This record gives sequence, C-alpha cells and structure tokens, in this order.
Amino acid sequence: MEGMGDLLRRMPGSRENVPLSGYTSFGTGGPARYMAAPGSLQEVKEVFLACRQYGQPYLILGRGTNLLVSDRGFQGVVILTCRLNSVFVRENRILCECGSPITSLMKTAVSHCLGGIEFLAGIPGSAGGALVSNAGLKDHWISRAVREIYVLYPESLEVKNIKGDEAAFGYRKSGLADYFVYRTVLNLSPADPGEMRRKMRDNMRRRISSQPIGSMSAGSVFKNPPGAFAGQLIEKAGLKGYSLGGARVSPKHANFIVNTGGATSRDIYLLMSKIREKIRKDYNITLEPEIKLAGDFGE
Ligand SMILES: Cc1cc2nc3c(=O)[nH]c(=O)nc-3n(C[C@H](O)[C@H](O)[C@H](O)COP(=O)(O)OP(=O)(O)OC[C@H]3O[C@@H](n4cnc5c(N)ncnc54)[C@H](O)[C@@H]3O)c2cc1C
Repeated sequence: MEGMGDLLRRMPGSRENVPLSGYTSFGTGGPARYMAAPGSLQEVKEVFLACRQYGQPYLILGRGTNLLVSDRGFQGVVILTCRLNSVFVRENRILCECGSPITSLMKTAVSHCLGGIEFLAGIPGSAGGALVSNAGLKDHWISRAVREIYVLYPESLEVKNIKGDEAAFGYRKSGLADYFVYRTVLNLSPADPGEMRRKMRDNMRRRISSQPIGSMSAGSVFKNPPGAFAGQLIEKAGLKGYSLGGARVSPKHANFIVNTGGATSRDIYLLMSKIREKIRKDYNITLEPEIKLAGDFGE
C-alpha cells in the first residue's frame, strides 16, 4: 500500500525532514516531518486528504512571520502556501491567493491606483496569515477591506465563500483559524498612487524608527491588553533589553523579542514565560500571545 511519504513525494515541492528555521522570521524551529507545497486548490485538497488518510496533523505555513515553531519541529505535514500566489484585479477589487506576499498586494494596489491598504506597508506576511490574525495597526485592520473569503474546510474538503462581515474578525483574531484560507477579495477605492506611496513611506519610516526592523523577530509578541500597551508594561517592568540565551527583549521596542544569533525556540518561549510571569506579578495582567506556537514546548 502506498504510504504517506510516497503520496507526498508526488506533490510538487514536497520534502521530508525539512528544518523550519529557514521558514520562520525568528530563524528558529526544528524539522517538519513532511512538507508539501500545493500549487492549486486541487493539490491543497489532495494534501488534506492524505493527512486525513494517514492520521497526520498539519500546520499551515505562510511566510512564518507570526510563528514560533518548537525546536523539536512539527511531527506531521507542514503545508506551505507560497506557491498559491496569484493576484488579480477586477474593477476596484483585488483577488489574491493566500500565499501572496503582502508586498505583492501593495505593489498591485499602487499600480492599479487602488487605495485602502497602505497601512499594511512593512508587514512581512502573506495574505492568508494576515487574514487569520486580522493584521494591521492600532486602528486599521485588513478586515475592513475584506469583501469575501474562499475557505476550504480540511475535514470535509468543502469550499465555502464567507462574507467579510461573517468572518468574526476582532483584535488580532478571526473565526478563520479552523479553515484553510484559500483566496480573498479585497474591496479598495480609487486613489492617487503618489499619495499612496507617501502614506506607505510614512508608515515605513514610523516602523524603522520604533521597531527592530532587519532583526530576526516575529513582530509584536503579545496582544495589547484592554486599556494598555504590552510594550509599555514590559518596559516599565524593567525587561527592555533583557536576554535569555540567544533571545532578547528588543531594546528598541519591548514587545518584540529578537533572535540575537544563536537563539533556540525554547529560549524565546522561556523569555515569553518570564515576561508573562513578571507582568502578572507587577500588574495582575495576563498577557496573551499574539504570535502562534506550533509543535511541542513541554519539558
Ligand atoms: C518585523 C515584523 C513586523 C510586523 N508587524 C506587524 C504589524 O504591524 N501588524 C500585524 O498585524 N502583524 C505584524 N507582524 C506579524 C506578521 O507579519 C503578520 O501577522 C502576518 O500577517 C503573518 O502572516 P504569515 O504569512 O507570516 O503567517 P504565518 O506566520 O505563516 O502563520 C501565522 C498563523 O496563520 C496561519 N495561517 C497562515 N496562512 C494560512 C492560511 N492560508 N489559512 C489558514 N491559516 C493560515 C498559520 O497556521 C499560523 O497559525 C510583523 C512581523 C514582523 C516580523
């Protein structure tokens, strides 16, 4: 009988025992037992079918910029979305597949004079990752531009079209986490490309002055608790610049943890635990991680 490995080996871009440190912006993480890189909806279905058939857990991986993967890796199938990267324009709408980098959406929007998502400039993820976490800034989120989302339900392989206002979007969350987000349609408005570029440059300038851009990080580690900013709490607790192994609380922005070179995922995980413990003790606030954890972090 054909095994899981045989089946996945036939998938384009598939491999075994792939170190995930090359696929995460933290630059950490152990190996994926299997990795598949489907290039069409049909291939996505085949991968999920194989996972179901062989009882393999799966992890959907966009650009890995909001993810901490265990040093033990992921004992299942990592489904890379990078080959699902088509972007089309229809009137005032951009249709994009989930693996499209946000930078591609921005370029397409500017070249078609379509404004409304300039605030995403500098967010290094994919469209799918951005939708699942409702990426954005303090007061601008991608959900505001979403008209509809085509999702695949991994259990039944059914494809559904969810309207933007039915996706349960909230602060850095959505109701999409149990689905494979396949494609989305963004509603934009006619805009002056020069003005759009100016807004994007301003956003980038603000980021460069306040965030450790260029370091190995995954953006903000914790969500802001109601009425407060996680970064300010961490700084007031005296942890800005604090190091644990190769992981460090960024001296530039206390809600960023950076890999200073030799960090393991465990270093980052333990530093997160240390921060949570201190903030709980000092302020009686439990910080909720904004980044997603994958794999086993137990002792
Ligand atoms: C320097 C830096 C700055 C950042 N600034 C911001 C910011 O200002 N605002 C902000 O919101 N974020 C920010 N981020 C975080 C990150 O870039 C965004 O959350 C981004 O949208 C994540 O996309 P991704 O493709 O990298 O997702 P991944 O890290 O690959 O995945 C994140 C989660 O989404 C799931 N997922 C990914 N694709 C799919 C899919 N197609 N279907 C279903 N689930 C999927 C994954 O399984 C995982 O649970 C920053 C990160 C960095 C490194």
